[in-house]
Amino acid sequence: MQESDDFKYFVEQFEDIRVLRYMLPGFELLTLQQKKLVYYLSQAALSGRDILWDQNFRFNILIRKTLEAIIENYSGDKTTDDYNAFLIYAKRVFFANGIHHHYSHDKLKPGFTQTYFSYLIREINKERLPLGKGQTVDDLISSLSEIIFDDNNYKRKVEQRSGADMVAESAINLYHDVNQQEVEAFYSDKINHNDPHPVLLGLNSQVVKKNGKIVEEIYKSGGLYGQALDKIINWIEKASEFAESDQQRKALRLLIDFYRSGDLKTWDDFNVEWVKDKDSVVDYTNGFIETYSDPMGMKATWEAIVNYTDSDATKRTRIIAANAQWFEDNSPVQPQYKKEKVTGIFAKVINIAMLAGECYPYSPIGINLPNANWIRKEVGSKSVTLANITEANDISSRGNGFLEEFAASQAEVERIKKYGTLSDALHTDLHECVGHASGKLAQGTDPNSLKNYASTLEEARADLFALYYIMDKKILDLGLLPSEDAAIASYDAYIRNGLMTQLVRIKPGKNIEEAHMRNRSLISQWVYEKGNRGNIVEKFKKNEKSFVRINDYSGVRSLFGELLKEIQRIKSEGDYEAGKRLVENYGVKVDANLHAEILERYEKLNLAPYIGFINPGLIPVFNGEGEITDVKVEYADDYLGQMLEYGRDYSFLTP
Ligand code: ZN
Repeated sequence: MQESDDFKYFVEQFEDIRVLRYMLPGFELLTLQQKKLVYYLSQAALSGRDILWDQNFRFNILIRKTLEAIIENYSGDKTTDDYNAFLIYAKRVFFANGIHHHYSHDKLKPGFTQTYFSYLIREINKERLPLGKGQTVDDLISSLSEIIFDDNNYKRKVEQRSGADMVAESAINLYHDVNQQEVEAFYSDKINHNDPHPVLLGLNSQVVKKNGKIVEEIYKSGGLYGQALDKIINWIEKASEFAESDQQRKALRLLIDFYRSGDLKTWDDFNVEWVKDKDSVVDYTNGFIETYSDPMGMKATWEAIVNYTDSDATKRTRIIAANAQWFEDNSPVQPQYKKEKVTGIFAKVINIAMLAGECYPYSPIGINLPNANWIRKEVGSKSVTLANITEANDISSRGNGFLEEFAASQAEVERIKKYGTLSDALHTDLHECVGHASGKLAQGTDPNSLKNYASTLEEARADLFALYYIMDKKILDLGLLPSEDAAIASYDAYIRNGLMTQLVRIKPGKNIEEAHMRNRSLISQWVYEKGNRGNIVEKFKKNEKSFVRINDYSGVRSLFGELLKEIQRIKSEGDYEAGKRLVENYGVKVDANLHAEILERYEKLNLAPYIGFINPGLIPVFNGEGEITDVKVEYADDYLGQMLEYGRDYSFLTP
């Protein structure tokens, strides 16, 4: 990849945010029917925007409409520091889908004064402001000022600090006028512990006090958020006309039924049919799905994506799955812990065509749904990797000076730029399709015996399987990589990350907590220690800066194989003590001096830690009869412009 590729993706950077766009590879190869399906599902996705804004905080839509009115109508001096600070605040609010930070949940602090804010509002023609019935401009100013500028009000979107009333002290609008105790009491007698197919209780409602009585306001047509849900229903109805199969149509019809009734049994029925639809090229999520923003972990925020299969990448995972038995038979694992018959998992690789709700602009990079445990167990789940989002992420983070700062040589930098995207993707495929699927337990081993170390060790096992094989001749024979240099690039990147660069995500003085990070540290530290005797992996200093370099790639590969064998043994035998020693000795602790140095070097690069995406425009082409004859992709390059456009075209709830 050329450095200039970064410009294909980069849109803008402000505060702690970097905005990119993503490409739609192969979109033009879809059939007209598939393109129409993508188009209508995308309209359904964008139409739910206001729902999330209101869920995040009950004054968010009012605030957004005020910000929009100012940006679109203010004709005064736009070159001042104040106006610039106002714009940055607005961009941050748009990014967070509200006035609380998307990640930390803290209320965003404006970089301008209340006086300036009042001035801006007074400059706008009254007709353009979101004034309520009988509300004056002064009323609007005073109520918004209290919300935005008073640090004591609505401090955090989600408050989970111990001792807090998580419901009453969280600004999130999933509950209103009730406290934690009341919510717990409300739901406690509704749980049926004997139901083998329990619905996700409280998933799609707001709990409020009405005339002293606690009730649920259900999100449904004719109910809470009904105006937006009706728009979504209309677009899904259009989409269902172009469904790729009866199975897909059946699922879409159930989704419409769910939005009409708000019945959570129907939501489960929908998910069952959605999971069964594995063959459609075009797929989607649309609904009240993830519960991360609810301090009580019950209520879901609204999200939607539209996607289509990435045919090249899917070809790759098919090849890997088809050769799963060969990988199993030839691994360095002890024979008694290999599976006699292994079925590789066929993971679908997709490209995003539209992000919306909770997924926009801050996008996930993988999706694994549905969330209901009984459906996952009895019917299955869909696990997908978002190829075009990951690629934009990767390439953009390679063009920002990070690699040049931390790589040991220019040759390393060039190898990664040339092969990094492909070798990363192949690593993920091997990890998911054969790594996790490989190996077996000894008879009588309790599958839960590794307890709190289980997930770190399991991730390490899958990573080692991928690392061991990515440098195998078989990979070249299968045509999965173009040259051994691609495998070398992935070894460099893995060890550098595990020993050094992933530390940028750890706060000073802290240990490594997250399972994937622990696993990368475990593998890299272990290989470094074992390989140091023969100088297989070397740490060195240049201009007072620390670097690592691999001197013997096949030596590293043997060590990966050795560790894979040991971790498989630990899993197969349920050897808790050995697993604990590996994780505690190699996966948790941080070298304080190195950590401080890495953080200092990282800070100087001035990179924004959070990446988000703007959507492409999907533009239908009509013929004389008003029929769609094609759908064109227009890549947007104006972040604020897209936000204002969505505000104009997809706002269906009144503040
Ligand atoms: Zn994994």
